[in-house]
Amino acid sequence: MHILKLSLLALAGLSNASSDSLVNCLKPALSSNTALEHPDQEGFIQDTGRYSTLFSPSFRVVAKVATEEDVAASIRCATDTNTTFFVTGPRHGFSQGLSQIKNGLEIYTGAFNHVVVDADTNTLTCGGATTFGDAIEAGYRAKKVFPTGSSSCVGMLGAGLGGGIGRLQGLYGLIIDNILSVRIMLPNTTVVTASEDTNPELFWGIRGAGFNFGFVLNATFRVYDQVNNGMHMNADFLYPANATQSFFEKLAKEAEDMPAAFSIDTGAAYNPDYNATMLIANAVYAGPEDEGRKLVQFLIDQKPLVQNITMVPWNKLIDAALFGGAGAAACEKGRYRKSLYSAGFKTIDPKAQVKMTQVLEQMNAKFPQTVGSGAAIYLPAIQAMKAVPKTATAYNRRDLLGHMNFDITYSDNTTTDETVDNLPAKMRDIIVETAGTNDLITYVGFSHGNEPLESIYSKENLPRLAALKKEIDPSGLFNAYHPLPTVYP
Ligand SMILES: Cc1cc2nc3c(=O)[nH]c(=O)nc-3n(C[C@H](O)[C@H](O)[C@H](O)COP(=O)(O)OP(=O)(O)OC[C@H]3O[C@@H](n4cnc5c(N)ncnc54)[C@H](O)[C@@H]3O)c2cc1C
Repeated sequence: MHILKLSLLALAGLSNASSDSLVNCLKPALSSNTALEHPDQEGFIQDTGRYSTLFSPSFRVVAKVATEEDVAASIRCATDTNTTFFVTGPRHGFSQGLSQIKNGLEIYTGAFNHVVVDADTNTLTCGGATTFGDAIEAGYRAKKVFPTGSSSCVGMLGAGLGGGIGRLQGLYGLIIDNILSVRIMLPNTTVVTASEDTNPELFWGIRGAGFNFGFVLNATFRVYDQVNNGMHMNADFLYPANATQSFFEKLAKEAEDMPAAFSIDTGAAYNPDYNATMLIANAVYAGPEDEGRKLVQFLIDQKPLVQNITMVPWNKLIDAALFGGAGAAACEKGRYRKSLYSAGFKTIDPKAQVKMTQVLEQMNAKFPQTVGSGAAIYLPAIQAMKAVPKTATAYNRRDLLGHMNFDITYSDNTTTDETVDNLPAKMRDIIVETAGTNDLITYVGFSHGNEPLESIYSKENLPRLAALKKEIDPSGLFNAYHPLPTVYP
């Protein structure tokens, strides 16, 4: 019965497809390893599921591409049939603008996930859809280390092309600071290399706004010999929310002078075990345990209700962090309606943290469908990131101390930011008021999608980025995610 039903559904999908000029174009153009998936087919749901289902794009077909020529053919067919397309990798990207893609083509590039580490030249080359988890695993096996983000399921390039913030940025800079070269398929489907020497202007723009200029087929990164035999100290702490003021007073002081190998994440969220909002902190030190323990003494001194300090190999760090609770949850796709907001900051204001936490508690109390939400500070050391000149890459927010992120989860199918009194944006604005940044600054990878362009790409860089966009993508084919204008101002 089940098989019969599936066959009928598949047939229905095919018969729909035959009347679709897009599908008629794709079928003969794609390699035999490429799958075309339709909404009534099983793989479609899996391959379109995103980290947040809120503001999801809608597709009538997914081209699950296998080769570079498949990517080119998919772009050409979409263009020829006037179909909006969206090239996807691990699908953790969020922007309210994605909902403008309706009835489009998803070009799913998951097959571009190879990773090769050359230990002799200290380089790692990976496909455009490689996840942090896969890159870390390959690097660790080769006894190497390099900057990544802190969720194993996020794309090394999806995140990296926006900047790439992560725990090791104090030692090695951002992900973009370690890109040596990329091979990119431009919107017109030609493939070019970009590096400091070849297409340097494109290389500049790719490192901060990369998703605007085509699909990076593969990229080569600089890597480093692992530190402390690949063992990192992971320390987790849990505090009651009424510790917020004193906690952030201490953290603000420590943040002024964090060693390069040190990184802290903290977050406020409702905790069902305590039936209360709790403050969680994760500290990671890429070095020996005795040094790391000294660094987290200020967190121990604040008398956490629970603490856990362990040495973990780098390839297990993401799963171990935050009492082992964050890794798998951050990998969920197609399940939660999430609304993300973020603000970069130069100073930590304990009073603003208290006020913001109170608003979070009020939101949870008034709108119980928001209790899965969290507000988290991302505070890795900044030395190597800051040492790179601001003009070197299109990401130029090198004077930020950290990022305050709001991961708002709606557990029902109807709630929106508006129906919760816009409290998510209000919480962010409380932080912005005393962030030391004058205006809102938002890292593109954490942004909501309704921030002013200047908040994301900066007023200084927009004229140069717009000129590059005009040259590389004048028709705006790669405009799905945080698009650049072709003219600015
Ligand atoms: C749970 C979670 C944790 C995160 N942690 C971090 C972190 O630690 N550090 C950090 O910097 N950011 C982090 N981010 C933000 C992250 O940078 C963005 O969400 C990013 O867009 C994810 O990229 P993706 O490839 O996973 O997603 P996708 O949705 O597949 O892609 C996002 C955008 O990037 C484009 N893109 C992806 N790959 C390529 C490519 N090869 N060439 C050209 N364009 C490409 C896509 O076309 C799309 O426009 C996190 C996000 C989440 C949800």
